[in-house]
Amino acid sequence: MLDASRIPMPSATMQAIVKPEPKPGARLEEVRIPDLGPGDVLVEVRAASICGTDLHIYKWDHWSAKRIRPPLVFGHEFCGTVVRVGAEVEIVREGDFVSAEMHLACGRCFQCRTGQRHICQNVRIIGVDTDGCFAEFVKIPETNIWKIDPAIAVEYAAVLDPLGNAVHTVLAGEIAGLSVAVTGCGPIGLFAIAVARASGAGAIIATEPHPFRQKLAEKVGASMVVDPETTDAVAEVLAATNGVGADVVLEMSGNPRAVRQAFQMLRRGGRISLLGIPSKPLELDLANDVIFKGAVVQGINGRRVFETWYQMQALLKSGRLDLAPLITDRIGMADFEHGMELLLSGNASKVLMFPNGKPPKESG
Ligand code: NAD
Ligand code: ZN
Repeated sequence: MLDASRIPMPSATMQAIVKPEPKPGARLEEVRIPDLGPGDVLVEVRAASICGTDLHIYKWDHWSAKRIRPPLVFGHEFCGTVVRVGAEVEIVREGDFVSAEMHLACGRCFQCRTGQRHICQNVRIIGVDTDGCFAEFVKIPETNIWKIDPAIAVEYAAVLDPLGNAVHTVLAGEIAGLSVAVTGCGPIGLFAIAVARASGAGAIIATEPHPFRQKLAEKVGASMVVDPETTDAVAEVLAATNGVGADVVLEMSGNPRAVRQAFQMLRRGGRISLLGIPSKPLELDLANDVIFKGAVVQGINGRRVFETWYQMQALLKSGRLDLAPLITDRIGMADFEHGMELLLSGNASKVLMFPNGKPPKESG
């Protein structure tokens, strides 16, 4: 049941993490609670999670300077409770426990009209292009709301966005009974290992230079973890697969060296799915590593809307997906700078924030 005292008055204010101006850093500020359009719902945020994109915005890198228009409330990974609905909202109700697909597809372009909303030509992202969820409340169009099965824990519900990236990548082709290499064990690579394990993959070989993340990779189901800075990662994968190479390679780092190695460790006729985003163009041996190999190469963007969400729900409800080791830190919103620093150090995976101050213990 919705606690009536939590329903905000119109024109009331809330605490939010704001990028106030185009330069590094961010501030906790008192801002207006968003006004709703007729098709929008207002969600009280129970837990939000920090993404690599938020780090880019916080640090104010080249990409942010081009894309972000301050002032902006950022953040796009969350779950919460609906506290108000617009006049034309039909299915979502006050009190619903929800998350949301934060990519707003235009609905009109070729891709949107042919069932490919995840690669909409005119996509806008809540928390990047419009105000996001590092706040007590966030406004979402009803069409983007995902109602969460009550069997799913709050802490998992808060990370459906990056988990969806991993599910989309892993399930973009066959996986059961196949050998899998995962290059890069950031939060999404780690989710991918857990998802591949839960989906019946054979050997899973992960590459990752950071010791903290190497340990997490083992915890969530990697059969072997290779440090690409001290070991020949390609040779290790070949040795582990009788010289054949991995059936499936999931590139989850965007690091140019890792991308090249990913192609080299793929077996002839195998599938490579690329999620990691290199910061600039890179060189590949197309003849040997793609053409003569007969490689199946896939670019992976976002989540399929809403196929990936249904797959995630089924995986989470199966009880086979153990994400607990990957929720490494829980902080209040006032401590957001600490959360950003933790992630920048690599000594964290998912950092959860509780904008409405609920103690993490209650949130299970
Ligand atoms: P992250 O930066 O935390 O993870 C990358 C990991 O790769 C880090 O742990 C890093 O130590 C590791 N790494 C660096 N060099 C390596 C090497 N040579 N070999 C193996 N590993 C190496 O990022 P994340 O949040 O987990 O996201 C992963 C990637 O996916 C990023 O590039 C991100 O920009 C991208 N991304 C893509 C989409 C999409 O829709 N395509 C969505 C979200 C994120
Ligand atoms: Zn579109």
